[in-house]
Amino acid sequence: MLKDEKAIVVFSGGQDSTTCLFWALERFKSVEAVTFDYNQRHRLEIDCAREITEELGVQHHILDMSLLNQLAPSALTRDDIAVQAGGEGELPSTFVPGRNLIFLSFAGILASQVGAKHIITGVCETDFSGYPDCRDMFVKSLNVSLNLSMDSQFVIHTPLMWINKAETWQLADELGALAFVREKTLTCYNGVIGDGCGTCPACELRNNGLQAYLQGREGSHIHDK
Ligand SMILES: [Zn+2]
Repeated sequence: MLKDEKAIVVFSGGQDSTTCLFWALERFKSVEAVTFDYNQRHRLEIDCAREITEELGVQHHILDMSLLNQLAPSALTRDDIAVQAGGEGELPSTFVPGRNLIFLSFAGILASQVGAKHIITGVCETDFSGYPDCRDMFVKSLNVSLNLSMDSQFVIHTPLMWINKAETWQLADELGALAFVREKTLTCYNGVIGDGCGTCPACELRNNGLQAYLQGREGSHIHDK
């Protein structure tokens, strides 16, 4: 059934959205990707997203969202502010209020223009870092609002919503994409593709998840002593 339908993946070129792209390619007849250009700290992020979609033969839309810079100075958009992990219960310094609201809304408009019913986003509550518009309740609410606003029947899919980073690696593995995601995606705040710089908060989260998954996979082959 879904094999007849078209989907748009909100795509940054990172681990999560690349895993979502593979997830969508397995389910939908036609898949396109949308990347938001908001003067990211690293232009490399856009290049990385473009290269991945080219390699996978996925049509790629890049939307100019540089207006976010005017609204929300933060470490992601201004080079002169250092990236810091948020403490317990704090938002990280990369926080742009309402960013996901804006991105998903534009993805909905694009979906209506290209005739896609399905919108896929890699947001996740499990590694919740304080972004209220990445929560399941918000995404469900926005799904209703998008449908009302355009008199449409969009379905927003969040395949990563309830899984942790290790399980996201597992999903990539199950989709036959573990090596691809590991080598070709960009998560690192310092702009290092693949396993990254190893020390920034994004690398820490990604690499801890990968090690946990790989150890779990090994462990399932080892007998107790
Ligand atoms: Zn890094």
